[in-house]
Amino acid sequence: MNIILLGPPGAGKGTQAAKIVEKYGVPHISTGDIFRENIKNGTELGKKAKSYMDKGELVPDELVIEIATDRLAKDDCKNGFMLDGFPRTVHQAEKLDQFLKANGRKIEYVLDIAVEKSELVARITGRRVCKACGASYHIVNIPPKKEGVCDACGGELFQRADDTEETVANRIDVYESQTMPLIDYYEKQGVISHIDGSAGLDNVFAKITEVLG
Ligand code: AMP
Repeated sequence: MNIILLGPPGAGKGTQAAKIVEKYGVPHISTGDIFRENIKNGTELGKKAKSYMDKGELVPDELVIEIATDRLAKDDCKNGFMLDGFPRTVHQAEKLDQFLKANGRKIEYVLDIAVEKSELVARITGRRVCKACGASYHIVNIPPKKEGVCDACGGELFQRADDTEETVANRIDVYESQTMPLIDYYEKQGVISHIDGSAGLDNVFAKITEVLG
């Protein structure tokens, strides 16, 4: 099961990703998470990525493609994977296709989770993430039982540096100009399914399981 989660920031990809992992057992590969881990550890890659991420811009293709394909080459991806936040440009998608083809594999499902632009800003600025386990909450829509504390592991919740109002508008623009062309790209491959991301967490997941089987 080789899956791509597509959708603007705030569409709920991370939340659905966690549910997909639980049900289907595929590894969750988030290039954003890989960058954030590198920033936390102060690596060269992290330093390079941070300057782009803070502005809500895309990290250059050559950096992203390498980290994504290195990750996909690992053993746990042999029987399937779920990509979240990669590819984000047509060039990345082409490189991904080349990499998979060389390994006798291909993308089977692209889940395009769509949400109205007007809803996205509130979703993103209200998002809180667990420092320890990465679980995602929303101060209004999915509040934790105790403010600032993760229900799942008791970890501390924080707001991502790029989830602020200033950065969000740019991230949405970047999505529309650079990532949305992927919808057409995967439409042509006949692998895309369009999912209404505003239908509520459980309905969105029900639709995803309908697609994945
Ligand atoms: P995400 O966690 O997917 O929202 O990604 C956070 C940020 O990491 C993005 O706004 C980009 O700056 C960077 N990033 C993550 N994945 C990619 C990618 N595939 N291409 C370029 N930049 C990326």
